[in-house]
Formats: sequence, structure tokens, C-alpha cells
Amino acid sequence: VDALLVTDVVNVRYLTGFTGSNAAVLVQRDGATVFATDGRYLTQASEEVPDVETVDSRAVATALAQRASAAGVSRLGVEAAHVTLSLHRQLAAAAGSTRLVATNAVVERQRTVKDETELALLAEACRITDAAFADILGQLVPGTTEREVEWNLATSMRHHGAEALAFDSIVAFGSNSAIPHHQPTPRPLERGDLVKLDFGARYAGYHADMTRTVALRPVADWQREIHAVVETVQRECREAALPGAGAGDIDSLARQRLHEVGHVMPHGLGHGVGLEVHELPFLSPEPTTAMLVDRVPVTVEPGVYLPGRGGVRIEDTTVVTAGGAESLTRSPRGLIEL
Ligand code: ZN
Ligand code: ZN
Repeated sequence: VDALLVTDVVNVRYLTGFTGSNAAVLVQRDGATVFATDGRYLTQASEEVPDVETVDSRAVATALAQRASAAGVSRLGVEAAHVTLSLHRQLAAAAGSTRLVATNAVVERQRTVKDETELALLAEACRITDAAFADILGQLVPGTTEREVEWNLATSMRHHGAEALAFDSIVAFGSNSAIPHHQPTPRPLERGDLVKLDFGARYAGYHADMTRTVALRPVADWQREIHAVVETVQRECREAALPGAGAGDIDSLARQRLHEVGHVMPHGLGHGVGLEVHELPFLSPEPTTAMLVDRVPVTVEPGVYLPGRGGVRIEDTTVVTAGGAESLTRSPRGLIEL
């Protein structure tokens, strides 16, 4: 292509630093760049994107398609995953004789490897998440509800400096912990329950993602057993997440280890994490040629779920390094019995 029209706001943020909700950027082959946003954001844009020519338009994408056409671009790349049928129609009309070319994950692939600044922001999001976990342990008493714990986690993360939650927290007691993505209910905590907490803070745009499973006494043997299995598999997978490893191979390792002891994992092992909570690369059974490289953050989150009884997941936000995946979330992984 002669130019790329970037319309996904997360990709726009990555390329320009702009944090508003309506913007697009046109990057030409020779490096010439034009940014577009609307009147609500012009002041913000002058501070966040002071070095790029800014077009004022509500229809940011079509305005830049017209610019590309006027500049004589013959092949204009568009982000196929982020262009709706209706936007495509508008872009085609605005582009005139300029041909639209579908591109796939051009910016997303660049985003996978983080620089030192990004890793520091991600580490801060993880520090906040760890602090909230330490706070919540004292509040896991019989009678408190899943929704109360969800609220307390949110308050704690805000208190420790989160700008927002990275995603809706999963708080699951007892048999609800067997549901991988359970939504919190008014169910009260009871003695003998497993407690699965999957949550994270967002800090300066970067998302933490951590799961811990703790138990309220008395703790049954089966609860200790599945926790020990998940803890071991999670550690093996972190150690195997070396530069050069296939993203699918780490997922296979987890699946195989769990299969050896009679368990089937109903979800992928992990995902990239950064300006989005789920981003490339995906550690999953889907066919992929993606390889792990240095400075790529990924989650490692195996789980065992026994329907009607309970489940355990342990998840860390980690960074691939020469020594394996180094965890940025550092809360204790051993079974905490309260
Ligand atoms: Zn999670
Ligand atoms: Zn996750």
C-alpha cells in the first residue's frame, strides 16, 4: 500500500499518544502523517499530538480518505478488522479513484513487543492489582457476597492508583468457581468454599490481569489437589515461555499436563496484554505461527473446573524474557486457606 489509514482508536493511541475516543491517522509511505479528530478533542490533541498536522472533522476516517485521494495515493490500506460495511462504503465514496486494500493486524503486531516505558506502566498496573489482592484477603469472611467483594476490589484498586478497572472483575464462590467467566451475584460466602478472583487494574492505558483462587476452611482434599495441579502446570508453562517458543506450543504443554491427570481446559492458556486486556499473541489451541520473543507480555492462566463443585485458575501477567516468563503480578500462588 502507499498509505495506511488507521481507524482503531487503540492503534491510533499507540502510534500518536492520543487518548480520546474519536480519531484516525493516515500514515503515508514516505512518513508524512495526518491526524484527525473532532472539535471536542482539539485542545487535548494539541497537547498529546503536538507534532502532527491535525484535521478537524467528526467523520475522521472519511476526511483522511479524502486527503489520501487528494495526495494521489493509489493503494490505501485500511484495517479490515475495524472497518464496518457501512464505513467501508463511506470510505470508498470518499477515496474516489484511490483503491482500498484490506490489511490485517499491521499495528497490532507491532504492539506485541513492549518498550521499557510500556513495561514500567504495565508493572505499575500489576503492582496495584497485587495490593488490592492483599487488601481483599481480610474481607473474605462468611456472609460477604460476590458483589460486595467485586465492589471492594474495585475500590481498593482505585485507592492504590488505578485509573480504571482493566475489565469487569470475576468473583466466584463455591460451585460458581467452576464457571470460567462467572459474573458476580449476591451469593454469600460459606465455609468450605473455593474463592476465585480474576481482576486487574488499568494504569496509563495498560491492563493488568491476574487470577488467584483461595479457600475458606475447612478445605477438602479435592480442593487442595486441583489447586496443586494448576499451580504446578502454571509454573511449568511460565518456565517454558521462552523466546522462540511457539505460542501454540505453550498452550499444548498446559493441555497435555492437565490431560495426564484427567482434566480438560475449556479455554486458551493465555493472551497478550497491553493497551488492551486481550491482544496478540494468543496462547491457544487455534492454529498459529506466532512465536514468543523478548519483551512480549502474556498471561499464563491454566484452570481446572469441576461443574457443580468448584474450580481453580491461577493467572499471572508475565513478560517473556531469556529466563522464561517473568511475572509482573507477584501475589502468592500457593493455596491460601482462610
Ligand atoms: Zn484474567
Ligand atoms: Zn486473562
